[in-house]
Amino acid sequence: MKGRIHSMESFGTVDGPGVRFVLFLQGCPLRCLYCHNPDSWNTEAGVKKTSDEIVTEVMKYKSYIKNGGITISGGEPLLQIDFVIEVFTKLKALGIHTAVDTSGALFNEFTRPIYDRLMKVCDLVLLELKHIDSQKHEQLTKVKNEQILNFARYLSDNHHPVWIRHVLVPGYSDDENDLRALRAFIETLDNVEKIEILPYHVMGVNKYKQMGLEYPLEGLEPPSQKSVAKAYDIVVNGETTSVN
Ligand code: SF4
Repeated sequence: MKGRIHSMESFGTVDGPGVRFVLFLQGCPLRCLYCHNPDSWNTEAGVKKTSDEIVTEVMKYKSYIKNGGITISGGEPLLQIDFVIEVFTKLKALGIHTAVDTSGALFNEFTRPIYDRLMKVCDLVLLELKHIDSQKHEQLTKVKNEQILNFARYLSDNHHPVWIRHVLVPGYSDDENDLRALRAFIETLDNVEKIEILPYHVMGVNKYKQMGLEYPLEGLEPPSQKSVAKAYDIVVNGETTSVN
Protein backbone atom coordinates (compact mmCIF):
# COMPACT_ATOMS: atom_id res chain seq x y z
CA MET A 1 0.00 0.00 0.00
CA LYS A 2 1.20 3.55 -0.72
CA GLY A 3 0.77 6.60 1.48
CA ARG A 4 1.12 10.27 0.69
CA ILE A 5 4.12 11.58 2.60
CA HIS A 6 4.62 15.23 3.55
CA SER A 7 8.07 14.85 5.11
CA MET A 8 10.22 12.80 7.47
CA GLU A 9 12.41 13.61 10.44
CA SER A 10 14.94 11.00 11.50
CA PHE A 11 15.82 12.40 14.93
CA GLY A 12 12.65 13.74 16.57
CA THR A 13 12.71 14.46 20.30
CA VAL A 14 9.38 16.21 20.93
CA ASP A 15 6.78 13.80 19.55
CA GLY A 16 6.64 11.00 22.08
CA PRO A 17 9.12 9.21 24.36
CA GLY A 18 12.81 8.94 23.43
CA VAL A 19 14.39 9.67 20.09
CA ARG A 20 11.88 9.01 17.32
CA PHE A 21 11.62 8.75 13.58
CA VAL A 22 8.74 11.11 12.76
CA LEU A 23 6.75 10.54 9.59
CA PHE A 24 4.48 13.42 8.56
CA LEU A 25 1.60 12.37 6.32
CA GLN A 26 -0.08 14.63 3.80
CA GLY A 27 -3.65 15.93 4.14
CA CYS A 28 -5.71 17.52 6.90
CA PRO A 29 -9.44 18.28 7.20
CA LEU A 30 -8.91 20.87 9.95
CA ARG A 31 -7.86 24.47 9.44
CA CYS A 32 -6.34 25.51 12.75
CA LEU A 33 -5.73 29.25 12.76
CA TYR A 34 -2.27 28.70 14.19
CA CYS A 35 -1.26 25.82 11.89
CA HIS A 36 2.43 26.00 11.04
CA ASN A 37 2.15 23.38 8.28
CA PRO A 38 -0.42 24.72 5.79
CA ASP A 39 1.50 22.86 3.08
CA SER A 40 0.30 19.62 4.73
CA TRP A 41 -3.42 20.36 4.11
CA ASN A 42 -3.77 19.32 0.44
CA THR A 43 -4.71 15.63 0.26
CA GLU A 44 -3.46 15.40 -3.35
CA ALA A 45 0.04 16.72 -2.66
CA GLY A 46 3.04 14.98 -1.11
CA VAL A 47 5.17 12.09 -2.34
CA LYS A 48 3.76 8.57 -2.62
CA LYS A 49 5.75 5.84 -0.87
CA THR A 50 5.00 2.23 -0.02
CA SER A 51 4.89 0.96 3.55
CA ASP A 52 7.95 -1.18 2.77
CA GLU A 53 9.87 1.92 1.65
CA ILE A 54 8.97 3.61 4.94
CA VAL A 55 9.96 0.56 6.99
CA THR A 56 13.33 0.38 5.19
CA GLU A 57 13.92 4.08 5.86
CA VAL A 58 12.96 3.80 9.54
CA MET A 59 15.16 0.76 10.13
CA LYS A 60 18.24 2.70 8.94
CA TYR A 61 17.92 4.54 12.26
CA LYS A 62 17.19 1.49 14.40
CA SER A 63 20.12 2.05 16.77
CA TYR A 64 19.11 5.70 17.38
CA ILE A 65 15.44 4.98 18.01
CA LYS A 66 15.81 1.81 20.07
CA ASN A 67 14.65 3.64 23.22
CA GLY A 68 12.13 5.72 21.24
CA GLY A 69 10.32 4.55 18.15
CA ILE A 70 8.25 5.91 15.30
CA THR A 71 5.63 8.65 15.48
CA ILE A 72 3.29 9.21 12.57
CA SER A 73 2.05 12.79 12.48
CA GLY A 74 0.63 15.16 9.88
CA GLY A 75 -1.39 16.87 8.66
CA GLU A 76 -3.96 14.50 10.08
CA PRO A 77 -2.33 11.07 9.74
CA LEU A 78 -5.54 9.13 10.30
CA LEU A 79 -6.91 10.38 6.98
CA GLN A 80 -4.63 7.55 5.78
CA ILE A 81 -5.44 5.15 8.61
CA ASP A 82 -5.05 1.98 6.50
CA PHE A 83 -1.53 3.04 5.59
CA VAL A 84 -0.74 3.87 9.23
CA ILE A 85 -1.97 0.42 10.31
CA GLU A 86 0.18 -1.27 7.66
CA VAL A 87 3.34 0.66 8.60
CA PHE A 88 2.77 0.08 12.33
CA THR A 89 2.07 -3.63 11.84
CA LYS A 90 5.38 -4.09 10.03
CA LEU A 91 7.39 -1.98 12.46
CA LYS A 92 5.90 -3.56 15.58
CA ALA A 93 6.90 -6.97 14.20
CA LEU A 94 10.45 -5.56 14.15
CA GLY A 95 10.21 -4.42 17.78
CA ILE A 96 9.68 -0.70 17.15
CA HIS A 97 7.47 1.35 19.52
CA THR A 98 4.64 3.05 17.60
CA ALA A 99 2.84 6.34 18.27
CA VAL A 100 0.37 8.43 16.31
CA ASP A 101 -0.08 12.20 16.70
CA THR A 102 -3.71 12.95 15.84
CA SER A 103 -6.46 15.52 16.20
CA GLY A 104 -8.92 12.66 16.72
CA ALA A 105 -11.39 14.46 14.47
CA LEU A 106 -12.16 11.51 12.18
CA PHE A 107 -13.33 9.13 14.91
CA ASN A 108 -17.04 8.25 14.95
CA GLU A 109 -19.28 5.21 15.23
CA PHE A 110 -18.73 4.33 11.56
CA THR A 111 -14.93 4.57 11.68
CA ARG A 112 -14.66 2.93 15.10
CA PRO A 113 -13.98 -0.63 13.76
CA ILE A 114 -10.90 0.54 11.91
CA TYR A 115 -9.72 2.41 15.01
CA ASP A 116 -10.06 -0.90 16.88
CA ARG A 117 -7.63 -2.35 14.33
CA LEU A 118 -5.26 0.60 14.68
CA MET A 119 -5.15 0.28 18.46
CA LYS A 120 -3.85 -3.28 18.18
CA VAL A 121 -0.63 -1.97 16.59
CA CYS A 122 -0.36 1.51 18.13
CA ASP A 123 1.44 1.78 21.48
CA LEU A 124 0.68 5.43 22.22
CA VAL A 125 -1.70 8.15 21.03
CA LEU A 126 -0.63 11.79 21.17
CA LEU A 127 -4.04 13.46 21.22
CA GLU A 128 -4.42 17.19 20.70
CA LEU A 129 -7.29 18.65 22.69
CA LYS A 130 -7.29 22.06 21.08
CA HIS A 131 -10.26 23.51 22.96
CA ILE A 132 -12.74 22.07 25.45
CA ASP A 133 -15.57 24.35 24.30
CA SER A 134 -16.99 23.08 21.02
CA GLN A 135 -17.92 26.49 19.58
CA LYS A 136 -14.52 27.95 20.43
CA HIS A 137 -12.94 24.78 19.04
CA GLU A 138 -14.76 25.44 15.78
CA GLN A 139 -13.59 29.06 15.70
CA LEU A 140 -10.03 27.85 16.21
CA THR A 141 -10.00 24.82 13.90
CA LYS A 142 -13.16 24.96 11.70
CA VAL A 143 -14.51 21.74 13.26
CA LYS A 144 -16.44 21.04 16.45
CA ASN A 145 -14.91 18.90 19.19
CA GLU A 146 -17.60 16.31 20.04
CA GLN A 147 -15.99 13.53 17.98
CA ILE A 148 -12.60 14.37 19.44
CA LEU A 149 -13.89 14.13 23.01
CA ASN A 150 -15.63 10.86 22.07
CA PHE A 151 -12.30 9.60 20.78
CA ALA A 152 -10.64 10.53 24.08
CA ARG A 153 -13.36 8.60 25.96
CA TYR A 154 -12.99 5.63 23.61
CA LEU A 155 -9.24 5.51 24.31
CA SER A 156 -9.89 5.73 28.03
CA ASP A 157 -12.54 2.99 27.93
CA ASN A 158 -10.01 0.81 26.13
CA HIS A 159 -7.18 1.71 28.56
CA HIS A 160 -5.05 2.89 25.68
CA PRO A 161 -2.02 5.01 26.69
CA VAL A 162 -2.44 8.68 25.76
CA TRP A 163 -0.48 11.88 25.97
CA ILE A 164 -2.77 14.91 25.86
CA ARG A 165 -1.44 18.04 24.15
CA HIS A 166 -2.90 21.52 24.27
CA VAL A 167 -1.63 24.36 22.09
CA LEU A 168 -1.78 27.60 24.07
CA VAL A 169 -2.87 30.38 21.72
CA PRO A 170 -3.22 33.83 23.36
CA GLY A 171 -6.80 35.05 23.21
CA TYR A 172 -8.06 31.75 21.74
CA SER A 173 -7.17 28.83 24.00
CA ASP A 174 -5.71 30.36 27.15
CA ASP A 175 -8.82 31.39 29.09
CA GLU A 176 -8.40 30.12 32.66
CA ASN A 177 -11.98 28.87 33.01
CA ASP A 178 -11.65 26.95 29.75
CA LEU A 179 -8.34 25.50 30.93
CA ARG A 180 -10.01 24.38 34.16
CA ALA A 181 -12.81 22.76 32.17
CA LEU A 182 -10.18 21.04 30.04
CA ARG A 183 -8.47 19.76 33.19
CA ALA A 184 -11.82 18.55 34.56
CA PHE A 185 -12.42 16.59 31.35
CA ILE A 186 -8.94 15.06 31.46
CA GLU A 187 -9.62 13.96 35.04
CA THR A 188 -12.53 11.84 33.78
CA LEU A 189 -10.04 9.80 31.70
CA ASP A 190 -8.03 7.01 33.30
CA ASN A 191 -5.41 6.45 30.60
CA VAL A 192 -3.51 9.75 30.46
CA GLU A 193 0.23 9.24 30.93
CA LYS A 194 1.30 12.80 30.26
CA ILE A 195 -0.14 16.26 29.57
CA GLU A 196 1.79 18.78 27.51
CA ILE A 197 1.24 22.52 27.02
CA LEU A 198 2.58 23.60 23.63
CA PRO A 199 3.01 27.38 23.39
CA TYR A 200 1.81 28.95 20.13
CA HIS A 201 4.71 29.99 17.91
CA VAL A 202 5.09 31.84 14.63
CA MET A 203 7.55 29.57 12.83
CA GLY A 204 5.09 28.71 10.06
CA VAL A 205 4.24 32.26 9.03
CA ASN A 206 6.59 32.30 6.04
CA LYS A 207 4.92 29.20 4.58
CA TYR A 208 1.67 31.16 4.28
CA LYS A 209 3.47 33.91 2.38
CA GLN A 210 5.16 31.37 0.09
CA MET A 211 1.78 29.77 -0.61
CA GLY A 212 0.10 33.14 -1.22
CA LEU A 213 -2.19 32.66 1.78
CA GLU A 214 -3.15 35.24 4.36
CA TYR A 215 -1.89 34.29 7.83
CA PRO A 216 -4.99 34.29 10.08
CA LEU A 217 -3.16 35.27 13.26
CA GLU A 218 -0.98 38.01 11.77
CA GLY A 219 0.65 40.03 14.53
CA LEU A 220 -0.24 37.64 17.35
CA GLU A 221 2.69 37.15 19.70
CA PRO A 222 3.49 33.83 21.42
CA PRO A 223 2.22 33.51 25.02
CA SER A 224 4.32 34.92 27.86
CA GLN A 225 6.25 32.57 30.12
CA LYS A 226 3.86 33.54 32.91
CA SER A 227 0.85 32.56 30.83
CA VAL A 228 2.43 29.23 29.89
CA ALA A 229 3.28 28.57 33.56
CA LYS A 230 -0.31 29.38 34.55
CA ALA A 231 -1.72 27.01 31.94
CA TYR A 232 0.72 24.34 33.10
CA ASP A 233 -0.41 24.81 36.70
CA ILE A 234 -4.06 24.46 35.76
CA VAL A 235 -4.03 21.75 33.09
CA VAL A 236 -1.03 19.66 34.13
CA ASN A 237 -0.96 20.14 37.92
CA GLY A 238 -4.70 20.56 38.41
CA GLU A 239 -4.39 23.84 40.34
CA THR A 240 -7.90 25.03 41.10
CA THR A 241 -7.41 28.47 42.70
CA SER A 242 -9.13 31.20 40.70
CA VAL A 243 -7.08 34.36 40.08
CA ASN A 244 -9.11 37.54 39.63
S1 SF4 B 1 -4.65 19.56 12.76
FE1 SF4 B 1 -2.47 20.06 12.62
S2 SF4 B 1 -1.99 20.02 10.42
FE2 SF4 B 1 -4.22 20.13 10.62
S3 SF4 B 1 -4.69 22.32 10.49
FE3 SF4 B 1 -4.50 21.78 12.66
S4 SF4 B 1 -2.36 22.21 13.22
FE4 SF4 B 1 -2.50 22.12 10.93
